[in-house]
Amino acid sequence: METLVPLWRSHERSFQGNRYVYPVLSRRAGGISVGVNLNPDKGCNFDCVYCQVDRTPAGMEGVEPLHRTVETGRLLDELQTLQKSIRAGDFFEKPPFEAVPVPLRRMSDIAFSGDGEPTVVPEFPDILKTVADFRNATPGLSSVPIRIITNGTGLFKTRIRTSVRETLFLEEPLPRTDSPGTGEILDEVWFKIDAADPVSFSRIDRSTQTFDRYRKSVLETLRDLPVTLQTMVLDIRDPRKPFRPEGLWAEAMRDWVTTLQKEGTRIRQWHLYTVARKPPSPEILAVSAERLQNLADFFRQSVSCPIAIFP
Ligand code: SF4
Repeated sequence: METLVPLWRSHERSFQGNRYVYPVLSRRAGGISVGVNLNPDKGCNFDCVYCQVDRTPAGMEGVEPLHRTVETGRLLDELQTLQKSIRAGDFFEKPPFEAVPVPLRRMSDIAFSGDGEPTVVPEFPDILKTVADFRNATPGLSSVPIRIITNGTGLFKTRIRTSVRETLFLEEPLPRTDSPGTGEILDEVWFKIDAADPVSFSRIDRSTQTFDRYRKSVLETLRDLPVTLQTMVLDIRDPRKPFRPEGLWAEAMRDWVTTLQKEGTRIRQWHLYTVARKPPSPEILAVSAERLQNLADFFRQSVSCPIAIFP
């Protein structure tokens, strides 16, 4: 698995001239995750301290900063071509994916994730439906879940939540059409919460939303949609103001997730992960597997959903 480290770490979003669709080897999805990037303009309403999307002037060179309507036809063509290539196996004949071991040579999900926040893109509900219809109607894809990887803010709008609920199989599994009777799949929303107190929120997520409003909206959203929580765990090596997750941050996270569970939300799982790719600043550091495990054990004392760690 050592030889796979560069692939785990690579989340290169350019692939064969594609604009929207790109493959990555995903640790958490356990195979080739086919990403759908609705933000080639790198638009996001957060400015996470660990975000690897380069939005410096140099990183924005050649990028059209204004949001342009997503070309649905092109997106579908790219998705179809990549899916066929993975299925036929020729995808694994070329570098860097030739290094992927046989058990991981499968399409593990279609993930709405990219250079910004997908749920705030105006075309998001329509594109989600188009992609879901394509997945549902394509036999080779009927065992592949759709995942929305999100900071959650677009889902704060009831209209967007309703479209996600009506389009995806979040509660009622989708029966497999390629081999009936062999199981079902569930789609997922991977909803990130990186901080449960206002100081950490403004330090880690650097959003313009007020924390009180954010917290209230998260509760409202999680009451409406079943989600998998995702939390980035990191150190900030700032000599003036160092940050470590142990202590106040961890206590606030534990208390908030425990409260969310008591308030009628349906949190299926909680993923704790750390910095795997090159962070934008040398001050941002990954935490060790041991520390992630210790934090998970600490949360398990009062949080009842399964907690998985991804060092
Ligand atoms: S929400 Fe995602 S894309 Fe946006 S700044 Fe944070 S990590 Fe980057």
